[in-house]
Amino acid sequence: MEPESGGDDDGCMATPRTTKKRKIKEQLPAASSSPEDKYKPYFKLEYKRSYPDNSSKEEFPIYVEGINEKIGNKNPLYLSKFFKNVKGIVEKRRLNANKIMVVFKQAVAANDFLSHSCLKENNLKAYIPAASVERTGTIRFVDKESSNAELYEKLMADAEIIAVRRFTKKVGQEIVPLTTVSVTFVGTSLPQYVFLDKWRYRVYTYVPPLMQCFKCMKFRHNAKICRNDDVCSRCSGAHSYKECSSDILKCCNCGGDHLAISKFCPIKIEQRKRHESNYLTRMYSTVVSNKDFPALTKAKTDKSVTFALKTKSTPVKKIENSHESPITVPVSTVQTPTTNSNTLTYDYLVKDDIFLQKIIKTLVTLANSNKTNTTTHIKDILIENLTK
Ligand SMILES: [Zn+2]
Ligand SMILES: [Zn+2]
Ligand SMILES: [Zn+2]
Repeated sequence: MEPESGGDDDGCMATPRTTKKRKIKEQLPAASSSPEDKYKPYFKLEYKRSYPDNSSKEEFPIYVEGINEKIGNKNPLYLSKFFKNVKGIVEKRRLNANKIMVVFKQAVAANDFLSHSCLKENNLKAYIPAASVERTGTIRFVDKESSNAELYEKLMADAEIIAVRRFTKKVGQEIVPLTTVSVTFVGTSLPQYVFLDKWRYRVYTYVPPLMQCFKCMKFRHNAKICRNDDVCSRCSGAHSYKECSSDILKCCNCGGDHLAISKFCPIKIEQRKRHESNYLTRMYSTVVSNKDFPALTKAKTDKSVTFALKTKSTPVKKIENSHESPITVPVSTVQTPTTNSNTLTYDYLVKDDIFLQKIIKTLVTLANSNKTNTTTHIKDILIENLTK
């Protein structure tokens, strides 16, 4: 894992929130525990994902995978037999070679399905996608001494915390802790701050690293589901890097003289940017299409600027299996200001460095533009930058 880079606290003068101390009586590892134990991700005991009973969402997706075999490429009619006794399914969808998605109209039906006998009978496992019920953020400049379990005990937030993971790096054989820690919360919006020993830490959106396949070296899938041939990450040859005998470095993605996994590869840089932007778009659109979370309002001022992100699609997006085709993201448009019920205050959006960069880029483009900046023109540029 790598820490996120850059971005300091903006010094925003938000009023401290009421923080609830969670009741925690869970076992902490011994103080003398090894770095492996100390920095091992900490998960709240006995936590199980579920949809809230009173949720007003319109769709409740569940992912289904085979325990012993990949079910994504099976005949839909064959798969339908598995679910013939399950009530409340409104849609079934193939996601990739490994998994399918089953959508329910009601939370209780979706939750019940997780323990349905058809799963065991057919060697299937089912789970709620994390993005439907959880959000992960990062906090920075956290002392390196505290273990994840200790941090979990001390952290206070408006939302329930279910996981704490310290970012670490490996130096030789040693695990070295970093000062960035990821925190996972229940809900579909991130709290703005958490408190640690009464110190306020800003919560940044966590974007998972870009996936790169170690078999074919392409992006956005892993070797587990890869159906391509081996490509050497050193010389681009048709063999695994483990069998490479070439002295020449040639990236199979861009042809440059670096490893295909190099973070300096221009193709990888471009892919990472796209991945971050797509991920954030997906997160925001899930939030605004989820009615469980009412519009945030800025208590201290009447002049809060509001944005609404309108989405055309359902909260959970199709995951593309093809290597070449882009991840499907909702088409978003931005309107300002508005009183739409799907409203977020700018507080929510300005937390995000990438979002801000896109706004800044838009302003620069407009300032340098010779065109008359009509509303339509401004909107076009903004949308173009936000969806790129
Ligand atoms: Zn691959
Ligand atoms: Zn090679
Ligand atoms: Zn390259």
